[in-house]
Amino acid sequence: MTHASTIAIDGTAASGKSTIGEMLARRLGYLYLDTGAMYRAVALAALRSGMEIANEEKVSRLAQSIRLEILPPDGYDDGRQYNILLDGEDVTWSLRTPEVNAVVSQVSTYPGVRRALTRLQRRIGQHGKVVMVGRDIGTVVMPDADLKLFLDASPEERAHRRHKEMAARGVESSFDEVLRWIMHRDQIDSCRDIAPLRPADDAVIIDTTNMSVEEVFEKALKLAEDP
Ligand code: C5P
Repeated sequence: MTHASTIAIDGTAASGKSTIGEMLARRLGYLYLDTGAMYRAVALAALRSGMEIANEEKVSRLAQSIRLEILPPDGYDDGRQYNILLDGEDVTWSLRTPEVNAVVSQVSTYPGVRRALTRLQRRIGQHGKVVMVGRDIGTVVMPDADLKLFLDASPEERAHRRHKEMAARGVESSFDEVLRWIMHRDQIDSCRDIAPLRPADDAVIIDTTNMSVEEVFEKALKLAEDP
């Protein structure tokens, strides 16, 4: 078989999905789509509008009405993987705040929100040559993907990585707080009724706890070249 054209990468929070996904997309010349950013954009829009996050109907309606654009990161040199525009405004870094972290998993449990974003993701992925990263890509969004990876690592290792990443961006947080939120999000993501976080039956599971980024990348690339 030739190279995998559709690649789904799922996994727990801060397991390295987006780092590996972006490296893979760049090496293969594919489109990179981080679906977590789309759920974060809905959460940010809801926070900004001042609506109750618990108001499922309002948040779902909002998800259907916002305009999301995901563009290449051209022209920026601040480590971003893409530009994400919410109704025309660049919100790329606003998606990574503790306020958004705190509510995004709740927003993601709403079927109306998932329907709107899944539709958009499928439309973006339909032409192939895509690396799509999220929680339900191999199970729901692209169940026929040529290659499915599921990344995981111990909660402490993931909290350590995320804490370091946030510090590098100047966002203050305590390690314990990051660890708590990561575990809280995993719990909500794994237990929800719709599209819960779980590996697809045919996914390759990679535990990255004791692996370097390069090691994970090499393994993923090999699988992509010979799925
Ligand atoms: O990957 P990231 O941490 O940015 O994702 C934020 C949240 O978005 C996840 O905790 C999850 O609740 C939700 N999400 C999802 N399905 C996806 C991607 C993200 O439910 N495909």
